[in-house]
Amino acid sequence: MTTARARSPLAFLDAEIEELREKGLYRRLRVVQSEQRSRCTIDGREVITLSSNNYLGLNTHTKLRSAAIAAVEQYGAGSGAVRTIAGTMSLHEELEARLASFKHTEAVLTFQSGFTANTGVIPILAAEGAVIVSDALNHASIIDGIRLTKAERKVFPHADMEALRTTLREVRGADGGADRTILVITDGVFSMDGDIARLPQIVEAAEEADAIVMVDDAHASGVLGRNGRGTVDHFDLHGRVHVQVGTLSKAIGVLGGYVAGPAALRTVLEHRARPFLFSTSHPPAVAAACLAAIDVLESEPELIERLWDNARYFKAGLERLGFNTGASETPITPVIVGAGALAHRFSDRLFEEGVFAMGIGFPTVPEEKSRVRTIVTAEHSREELDICLDAFDRVGRELTIV
Ligand SMILES: *Cc1c(COP(=O)(O)O)cnc(C)c1O
Repeated sequence: MTTARARSPLAFLDAEIEELREKGLYRRLRVVQSEQRSRCTIDGREVITLSSNNYLGLNTHTKLRSAAIAAVEQYGAGSGAVRTIAGTMSLHEELEARLASFKHTEAVLTFQSGFTANTGVIPILAAEGAVIVSDALNHASIIDGIRLTKAERKVFPHADMEALRTTLREVRGADGGADRTILVITDGVFSMDGDIARLPQIVEAAEEADAIVMVDDAHASGVLGRNGRGTVDHFDLHGRVHVQVGTLSKAIGVLGGYVAGPAALRTVLEHRARPFLFSTSHPPAVAAACLAAIDVLESEPELIERLWDNARYFKAGLERLGFNTGASETPITPVIVGAGALAHRFSDRLFEEGVFAMGIGFPTVPEEKSRVRTIVTAEHSREELDICLDAFDRVGRELTIV
């Protein structure tokens, strides 16, 4: 006879939840009950959202909807296998060829998400003995990709070009450093602050050290560069950035990630990248909708113009009201308030006033730089942006933030 154990072996989960509550970090997921548009229904309330990455409104664009439906009709709901067994469909190949020509690179390989693109490609680029040099504010999926390698890691302070150059010279100049592979990785646009990587300086420093440069353009795809080609195009650095990661989940409006670069990189990824080898490929509707999204980027550049008009208008409005918008240069505009509890209170009160903007605190950003993060899209009307600015003004004064 066994005696009943007093505690479940999963009791640590309750303790962890208790700790989250004590630290004020416990959150319930907000549920979107409508299409994800500038106005949507969230937790039963109609709000204007400043929290989606749907920069161009593509996720509800008629061309994407029709392409997805047609692909379901023609090819069914799922792809049925991983790419290396029988899951590579003609639509996947078509999307990759299209993306490669859009990005002006030799080849592209798609992944299930931007997250898996990073965890897939970084271990391929940096084997044991290599050194990875990474910006301190790089995205979590880059950090996890680095953790999957046996390479040495060196993190430089955010956007500190002097520190980057010094690190590269030290690595190259050290005993045995001449032959090491060095991989420099940066976000193209930093997701919490909305600032743009200093890519020209990064490329120069890397060229001096014979290092590989990889940029993750998740928040720049569809936003920066001609027709939304990203930061490499924005800075006119074609041919000088070895590896570009992009996402199909943000401005492109669907789901997925990709690696754009030399054909040899694609071939090695096909053989070795673990998320590619061991996880099923996109459903046909996803690939078809992404193809339609590239059509839209090429045929409706006015969407990107509207996005930037709205971003400038909203940022100027926030600054006029006296808010601290940090170093933002893109449609991502943080409103930095200080303490995490205040950021969450600010966000909650804005929600009650009909505006959804996420409060973000530690550990995503330093506690004293807690913020409400806003992202405007091409879909927001001036009237909607004015309603948001009014709400920021009222609640900001109520909470004595301004
Ligand atoms: C959002 C983001 C990702 C992840 O992209 P998904 O397609 O959502 O998985 C990767 N890198 C950066 C820099 C991001 O901002």
